[in-house]
Amino acid sequence: MLKFCSLYSGSSGNSLYVENNDTKILVDAGTSGKKIIEALNSLNVDISEINGILVTHEHSDHTLGLPVLSKKYNIPVYANEKTWSVLPTDKIKNQKVFNTNEPFLIGDLKIEPFPIPHDAIAPCGFNIYSSNQKISIATDIGHVTPTIVENLKNSSFLLLEANYEPKILQASPYPYYLKRRIAGNNGHLSNETAGKLITELSNYGLKHVMLGHLSKENNFPELAYQTVLNELTAKNISLDNLEVSVASRNEPSSVINI
Ligand SMILES: [Zn+2]
Ligand SMILES: [Zn+2]
Repeated sequence: MLKFCSLYSGSSGNSLYVENNDTKILVDAGTSGKKIIEALNSLNVDISEINGILVTHEHSDHTLGLPVLSKKYNIPVYANEKTWSVLPTDKIKNQKVFNTNEPFLIGDLKIEPFPIPHDAIAPCGFNIYSSNQKISIATDIGHVTPTIVENLKNSSFLLLEANYEPKILQASPYPYYLKRRIAGNNGHLSNETAGKLITELSNYGLKHVMLGHLSKENNFPELAYQTVLNELTAKNISLDNLEVSVASRNEPSSVINI
């Protein structure tokens, strides 16, 4: 059985936890090592049990805790070659390189990275398989590409970014260049776009979607949830078969059993 928990999710730091019977991994470590260890402890998991950390991209809200966790606990850190070229490699121990588009194993979890558009050097999302189960993680996405849609099909669980509400972003005091960056092709995903993608994926075996990486300034959990729900109901998709939840910024989500 696969288990998933969002430890932290949002522009102030991201770290996701996935386990099956024998393997425990993190996806990103974008807050202090101390906070990540605390969150894992709340799940009765010790940091020494973590078999590896997958890195989606180099932004600090995904990588801040890597130096401490890799040096102090010697946890293997997995990133693609281009991402390593912009990470502080002198501060991170136990470096492992993967090729995006080439599956690999950590313990008995199969990891399948896929490319996403975002303003980082070589950002990726991940499909994670345990026997015949598939879950997906797709965050920091500027726009939805056919590659993303293909990769997310037939996942029973998806952590998907729902970063901002366009009207709030427009009215926000953010400088113009930042607004353009967020809403641009290599920025972040809006609530509505997330809702449309979920609607499409609901025809391909999706049972539970957790909205994540919500902007603190340009979104609200209730609004992200409701916007996605509106997209689903507009297409007559029943919530009997598809659960929607929202990851919290500052505390672990409930543990999802897949
Ligand atoms: Zn990013
Ligand atoms: Zn981010």
